[in-house]
Amino acid sequence: MDYVLKCLGCGHVYKRSYDAQVCDRCGGLLEVAYKGNPKRLSNESGRPSIWEYADFLPKGEYKRWAVGGTRLLRSQDLGNVYMKMELDNPTRSFKDRGSVIEIGKAKEYGFKRIVCASTGNMAYSLSYYAKLAGMRAKVFISGDANPDKIRYIRDLHDADITRVNGDFNAADRFARRYAKSNDVFLTGDYCYRKEGQKTLVYEIFDRLIPDYLIVPVGNATLLSAVFKAIREYKAAGIIKRAPKVVAVEAKGCSPLVKAFNSNKELRYEAPKTKADAIAVGFPVYGNEAINEMRSEGSLAIAVSDKEMGTEQKKLHDEQGIIAELGGVASLAALRKMDMGSREKAVAIISGGNM
Ligand SMILES: [Zn+2]
Repeated sequence: MDYVLKCLGCGHVYKRSYDAQVCDRCGGLLEVAYKGNPKRLSNESGRPSIWEYADFLPKGEYKRWAVGGTRLLRSQDLGNVYMKMELDNPTRSFKDRGSVIEIGKAKEYGFKRIVCASTGNMAYSLSYYAKLAGMRAKVFISGDANPDKIRYIRDLHDADITRVNGDFNAADRFARRYAKSNDVFLTGDYCYRKEGQKTLVYEIFDRLIPDYLIVPVGNATLLSAVFKAIREYKAAGIIKRAPKVVAVEAKGCSPLVKAFNSNKELRYEAPKTKADAIAVGFPVYGNEAINEMRSEGSLAIAVSDKEMGTEQKKLHDEQGIIAELGGVASLAALRKMDMGSREKAVAIISGGNM
């Protein structure tokens, strides 16, 4: 669908050819605003993928890599709980949905290189598609990132990695600065990624509308994408009601949960968790997501590394599937919820990179 880019800070509207990811005027985040009402298309290819939702994606020349169409499995011990298996994606996390859109845009604007900040999965996904597209990836990775992920990103995806002495937010500052002073497309938790991530929600809603949707939170881009997907599907007349959204963070890094539950400002918190995929001290889309959560009556829950470890083992014993700690945060949150016997929930299993 044709679109413009609107600044969430000052409201300035940029043409779709604006190739920076943040507002030139105020530094605010941009949002893809469609000119018209997107519609659900028929699935011509037969294989489920994010491209079924092309009308809900920013118009562009994309390579239609096989991303999305992930399984929705029923949990064997949690009652009416379904698991959206995002580790079915090519690089084993939901990040692929956004990466293919970002890489498509980088290519369209004529860039040969991309840069990103990452705790691991983001760079793992982006550098994979950058390589497929014949582009080079520069990665600023947080100091506590999983060494195995770093090795794959460097050796398999040929990315140029700088390990930052600090957390994700420190890496993010490096990436933004690097993009400004080099001819490189800034990728990561920005507007185009959010559009790709919406497809996860559409896939769930096309199967069932649960009472609860459990969403793991790192930068809160997925959380923010959930609310945008709900708005767009409602506007298109495809759904009438939406699930209660439940945001989950690791106890050792829960700035959004704390801010939301205490009705206070979002404040940076130094990450102290082994769940590297969701270890973000100040979520990029945090404030935006909190506003949406307040108006939608959402819930926010923090879970400990130990609780995630228990779910990780259970999921493996039950289904033979290995998910990462952050990937099963949603299941750990479900154990703390008071769900009615007739209520249904969908837990997003966000990644499986160990
Ligand atoms: Zn602005």
